[in-house]
Amino acid sequence: MKVVIMTDLEGVSGVNHPDHIYSEPSEMYQYAVGRLMADLYAAVEGALDGGATEVYVVDGHHSGKNFIKEKLHPKAKQVSFAEWRELIRSGEIDAYMEVGCHAMAGTMNGFFDHTQSSKSWYNYYVNGKKTGEIGQGAQFVGAFGVPMVMVSGDLAACVEGRAFLGDIATAIVKEGIGWASARCIDLKEAEEKIRAAACEGLKRVKDIRPYKVQLPAEVKLEFFRADQCDEYCKNHPEVERMDARTVRKLVFEINSYLDLLF
Ligand SMILES: [Zn+2]
Repeated sequence: MKVVIMTDLEGVSGVNHPDHIYSEPSEMYQYAVGRLMADLYAAVEGALDGGATEVYVVDGHHSGKNFIKEKLHPKAKQVSFAEWRELIRSGEIDAYMEVGCHAMAGTMNGFFDHTQSSKSWYNYYVNGKKTGEIGQGAQFVGAFGVPMVMVSGDLAACVEGRAFLGDIATAIVKEGIGWASARCIDLKEAEEKIRAAACEGLKRVKDIRPYKVQLPAEVKLEFFRADQCDEYCKNHPEVERMDARTVRKLVFEINSYLDLLF
């Protein structure tokens, strides 16, 4: 069984302060990426427990330069974003997981809730359904028949994962207190939960359906401000402007992760 694990930083165990997230060389950021590696290690172990024969991992936060190579699980193969997209499209992947997730923009008590850009994306909808990054990942892999079987992150992210994907395995490693703070559980306990959830997700892979978006899909983005929408429309004449801060487009085919984004 071949498995892909995508990672983000906001939903990692022990991470509960804005300085953990910004990828400047600081002690706080170093701590956070150390925790990212621990959560990822646990997920890889869990995937192997659950029957994975190959585990591909992707460094998904910011520009993808967060992994500490020496702390990568020896059985995990790191792939780039481009390789990730090709793997999903290849039809060889049996299951997909996301470690370190955050909730969509506008989620109450979601630690660092956002969708793509916390500066310009206010609300994002797919076929009228407000969607965040968990849904975006699921709809891309789902288009190629791959189910998202496990999510780890704060409570809000895990609730969102289940709201979109049904009875998937989740590992809740903290609870957001507003936007910029979170109450974290014990770190060892978090790793155990992630390992158990990754294993459980694979054991139930046959019962978890790939997330299919009905095509053609109407995708809509509300920017925070009209000037951001002005700027976007200037560079993207193919989208339809609906009002001062909203654009929409119709997607007839999903070939890439980017097709459903703006
Ligand atoms: Zn991130």
